[in-house]
Amino acid sequence: MSFPLFRGLFRPLSRSTILIKLNTEDQHELRYSPGDHLGIFPCNREELVQALLERVEDPPPANDTVQVETMDKDSSRRLGAGRKATWVSDTRIPPCTLRQALTNYLDITTPPTPQLLQLFSVLCEDLEERLRLETLSQDARQYEEWKWFRCPTLVEVLEEFPSISVPSSLLLTQLPLLQPRYYSISSCQEAYPNQIHLTVAVVSYHTQENKGPLHYGVCSTWLDQLTPGAPVPCFVRG
Ligand SMILES: Cc1cc2nc3c(=O)[nH]c(=O)nc-3n(C[C@H](O)[C@H](O)[C@H](O)COP(=O)(O)OP(=O)(O)OC[C@H]3O[C@@H](n4cnc5c(N)ncnc54)[C@H](O)[C@@H]3O)c2cc1C
Repeated sequence: MSFPLFRGLFRPLSRSTILIKLNTEDQHELRYSPGDHLGIFPCNREELVQALLERVEDPPPANDTVQVETMDKDSSRRLGAGRKATWVSDTRIPPCTLRQALTNYLDITTPPTPQLLQLFSVLCEDLEERLRLETLSQDARQYEEWKWFRCPTLVEVLEEFPSISVPSSLLLTQLPLLQPRYYSISSCQEAYPNQIHLTVAVVSYHTQENKGPLHYGVCSTWLDQLTPGAPVPCFVRG
């Protein structure tokens, strides 16, 4: 479901809290009650996507659609000796450009898991960086301390470990999916039959005990920066 967006008539409620009004005119079947939740699929910030694309070692041409395929390891066993394994389409994300995948479908801001750090360590050319990544991926205490202090986005991890080479296939297959964010519906359908209202606190904070880079909440910042009328992919959860 996708709605055009109306910005609030009387925003902001405070410096960092905004009222979002979604136009639901085209959604005739839509029913909701105050207190239901709206799940919103946001986009990642363009600057972060661009910085990540600049680190990809084998970027496909900008307009090329990429379709992820994974090897069906069981197929050669099923088909018998000597037969080649088949490749199956990965349905995690639809066919799209790498930029679209990083903008709309993949989580590029949550700190990488120890498993992903382990994969990065294999792709690291610098020995010191590799050893540090191995430690972080294997030592739970050090990993938690690093994650808590830096809370690094993927781009920041690649800045901390500049010798990691990043194939596009790794990003497409290993990054977690960008999750919808939920917001409590604060309007009543009887009073506003063609609108859904949300009250959203815009998240931003400095990492590293306020001395590190400024981080922006993915969805709240995306909502804050949308232009009136922009579509908002979303769904109602009762
Ligand atoms: C059922 C439900 C209803 C909700 N209703 C509302 C609502 O009505 N209005 C509303 O505004 N929100 C609501 N939320 C929260 C909302 O879903 C999002 O989590 C919130 O907007 C942040 O999302 P984001 O994508 O902007 O930030 P994200 O990119 O998801 O970043 C948020 C994360 O940043 C980190 N973080 C945040 N602040 C700091 C800090 N100071 N220091 C270090 N790390 C920090 C934390 O890890 C946090 O989880 C609701 C959540 C749920 C589950």
